[in-house]
Order: sequence, then structure tokens, then C-alpha cells
Amino acid sequence: MKYIIITGGVLSGIGKGTIASSLCHILSNSGLRVSALKIDPYLNYDAGTMNPYQHGEVFVLDDGSEVDLDLGNYERYLDRNLTGDNNITTGKVYKEVIERERKGEYLGSTVQIIPHITNEIKRRIRKVALKDDLDLLVIEVGGTVGDIESMPFLEALRQLKREERGQVTFVHVTLVPEIGKEMEQKTKPTQHSVKALKEIGIQPDILMCRSIKPLTTDSRRRISLFTDVPEDAIISVYEAENAYQVPEIIEKQGTIEIIKQNLNLETSKYMDTWIEYKEKLMNPQEFVTIGIIGKYTELHDAYISHKEAFNHATGNTGIGVNLKWIDSDSVRENIQILSDLDGILVTPGFGYRGVEGKIASVKYARENRVPFLGICLGFQVAVIEFARNVMGISDANSTEFSKETKNPVIDILPEQVNVSEMGGTMRLGAKEVDILDNTLAMELYGEKKIFERHRHRYEVNPEYIERIEKAGMIFSGRDEQGIRMEILELNDRKNFIASQYHAEFKSRPLNPSRLHLNLVKCALEYRKSRAGKNS
Ligand code: GLN
Repeated sequence: MKYIIITGGVLSGIGKGTIASSLCHILSNSGLRVSALKIDPYLNYDAGTMNPYQHGEVFVLDDGSEVDLDLGNYERYLDRNLTGDNNITTGKVYKEVIERERKGEYLGSTVQIIPHITNEIKRRIRKVALKDDLDLLVIEVGGTVGDIESMPFLEALRQLKREERGQVTFVHVTLVPEIGKEMEQKTKPTQHSVKALKEIGIQPDILMCRSIKPLTTDSRRRISLFTDVPEDAIISVYEAENAYQVPEIIEKQGTIEIIKQNLNLETSKYMDTWIEYKEKLMNPQEFVTIGIIGKYTELHDAYISHKEAFNHATGNTGIGVNLKWIDSDSVRENIQILSDLDGILVTPGFGYRGVEGKIASVKYARENRVPFLGICLGFQVAVIEFARNVMGISDANSTEFSKETKNPVIDILPEQVNVSEMGGTMRLGAKEVDILDNTLAMELYGEKKIFERHRHRYEVNPEYIERIEKAGMIFSGRDEQGIRMEILELNDRKNFIASQYHAEFKSRPLNPSRLHLNLVKCALEYRKSRAGKNS
């Protein structure tokens, strides 16, 4: 079992996650069984309760774990499903150690960071490595070297290298800033951050240096001299037009060869499976504008899986997507903000803020026959809008937003009612969705059963289903028991669909979300028909 450990220096947000994912991609396309693990040194147990404004999207895995959005990147680049074990947090580690201490398992000894916490960290890492019969585990340490919170993890990883002699290689990601008109590359920050790493006993084996332009020979030489990393193991990760090009950038510099030597690995020849995909992604022949209606639109990372699902749609169709980020409250102030859109996505969400703007957006899409996709809360507001404006139930609402409403078209099902602990009653993870024949959903999926990921508490209220369907909305996907409504569409058009599940979480470059793909295709048709009318 071999390990690649990725640390970061100088600054956060320089693309460590993309580099980790890209390494996963090139190594798994070289015939190795690879998986990825993210270490998040924060104290939260998991990402479930974290505010998307602070931390970006909460990603959901098949097993229902709510994890850091980097796991989404790993899944997309690896084309492999991960589990909650692939995300270690300080919260998980300490909870386990304290629980064991309470059970007396440490036999009266003083419980300490070294060895008890570090042993628990190593145990969790090895568990992931052994579980899937892997050749290689790529471990990304969140944050930057020097952060107080990451210290126990780095210490554990240092020990891992000692214990697993010859099986561990350290990759350090740094920034090489370019300053002045001449864009002169500065290597000092890299030198300092490697020094910080060495102080805690870790000598990096490979450096991945982020910069705008490719690293100059001089920069490479200087960095090598001051860090003891051989020149050929200093990889230049210069600015790419698209993150999906990063695997190719690092592969071309001999990264696989260096890792093979460091870890004494055998691989088959690297096969780039994304050639066609990247070609279409980078050279779209036509464009559509899709509006993303949400309440965290200032932070695009809050909707990163949707952004990626649209990339996947482009890479499979050659239709470029311009995303227009629209704050749901601003829709209420000025509905005209939607008038130049070729398609509308109403996003997931919790809480009342922004909901009326989302409802207004669905109404606009329905009345003007603009292609529409609703996801999770977007599905629920489509039901509310339909009840209010088509069925004339003017006070229709979700009990999430109005406890007193006389018409709770969206409600909590009885078995979900017991709110025990935050996040405790959420319906999470991959669940079966059964698709009805002769529907748009069946046209898009071509399968009777699909498994899609969920993260919600509320459902379409079963008492209203018959009336809603009589009025022209079809529930074309349902859960196994037929109790929970999973997909809705309108009986008179093919460009209006919404899902209770998060189609974005399972979207992959070579297997895009069918719903996002459909929105993009419908948007192009709509754009053309509009252009036709105007000419
Ligand atoms: N707030 C809604 C619910 O809990 C929708 C959740 C979501 O959009 N992820 O059911």
C-alpha cells in the first residue's frame, strides 16, 4: 500500500484540491487502483452543519455522509464513489478518542495528542487504504503548513512515513508569485514554506508550484537549491484556462515517472480518457445563458457541483454555458432580470430567505416557457408555485416556511418528525428512484430505476398529489414505496423538470447529470426559436 500526501504552503485557495484530484486522475488512468482522502483540520464533526457562505457547498456521498466539497472533485476526477471515511476531521478523531477514554479503553493512561490522537489518525488512514484493496491512497491535508489545527495531522503523517518505509511520498503545493511589469517570479515564499515543513520533520519529495506563467529554469534552479527537492521533481502548475486541463499539465512534466520511482510502483501506460471531452469543453460551437437562482450566489463555490455539471454538459455537447448568478431576492425586485436567460436553474436551499424569489422565477419560467430545472428546494418551490398559480391555492406553502399554512403542499412526512439532533432527521444519501414510463424523465434516463443522492427533510404532501396531477403536473419519479415524489414535470412540455434529489452530486465528465444536460440542450433550442422569432 502506497501513499501520496499533499500539503499546502504560502496561501490557501491556490488549487491544492485540483492538484490532488489531478494526481488521482492521472494515476488511476495509469492502471492503478487509487482513492483519495481529505483531512479537514477543523473541529466540526462533518460539513453537514457548515454555512455554505463560509465553506462552500456541502457535498453528499452515496452513504449519506455530508463532506467537504473537495470530495466532489475527487469523485469527478477519479470517477469513483467515496464514503464518509474518506473525510477525516479533527471532530471525528477527538470524538472517537474521548469516547474510548470514557469506556476505559486506555487503561488509566494519560490521553495525549501523541500518541493517542496521532494513532487514531493513522488508524483511520490505514482503514481507508485497506478497505478497497487499493494500490495508492492520495491524502490531502486541508489548510496550510503552520496552522495550529493541522499540527497533529502532520505529525501523524510524518510518523506514517517512518512506519511505512518507502511507501510514502510528500507533495507540497506552493505559490510562486509574479510581480511587476516583467512578471518576475519570486521563489522566497516557496523557500519559506518548505522550511516550515522541514521544521516539523517533513522533507517534501515533490513540489507543485502554482504560478501564472510556466516556471522559468532559473526559478526551478533556485527552488531546488534552497529546498533540496531535485529539479525534475519541481512541477510547474501554471494557469490553465480550465481546471480539467491540470492533469495533462502535470502529466506532461513526468509526474507519473517521478512518483513511480519514489514509491517503486509499476504502472501501465497513461491513457487520457478526457481528450474528446476537453476538446468540446474548450471549443464550444454555440452558447447559452443559464441563470442560477440562489441565495449564496456571491460565493460560486456554494454551487460548485452545479457549475461542474454544466461543464460536463458542455464537454459532452459542445454547447458552451454562460452562467448568470442571480440572487433570489433580486428577482422579486425586478423580474426582468430573467429576460435574457435561455434557461433557469432554481437551486437547493434551507430556510425562508430567498424562497419567494425562487417561486417568482419558477412562475416566470412556466408562463414564458423558458427551460427550467429545479433541484431539491427548487423542486419544492415548483410544487408551491403550481399550487398557488395554476390550481388557485393562493396560500399553498411548505411547513418549513409557514407552520400555520392551511395548505401545506410540502410537509414533513410523519416518520421524519422526531427532530432529535441537528441533521438527524435529514434524508441523506443515495436512494432508489423509480421512473414512470412515457415521461420526460424516462426519455432522459432510459432506465426504470436510478440511484440518486438526497439531502432534505421535506416532501410533497401525499394528500395533494392527486389534485396536483389532475391539474397537469406529473410526478414521473417516486421512491420505492411510491410515497415520496422524486421528479416532477409538466404534461404539456419537455423543458420543465425538477428533482427532489441532487442530480448534480453524481454528475461526472463522461457521465453528466441528465437533468443539467437536458436544460442545456433545451436552452439552445429555446435560444434558436427566440432568435427565429426576432428576425
Ligand atoms: N429545505 C428543503 C428540505 O429540507 C430543501 C433542502 C435542499 O434543497 N437541499 O427539504
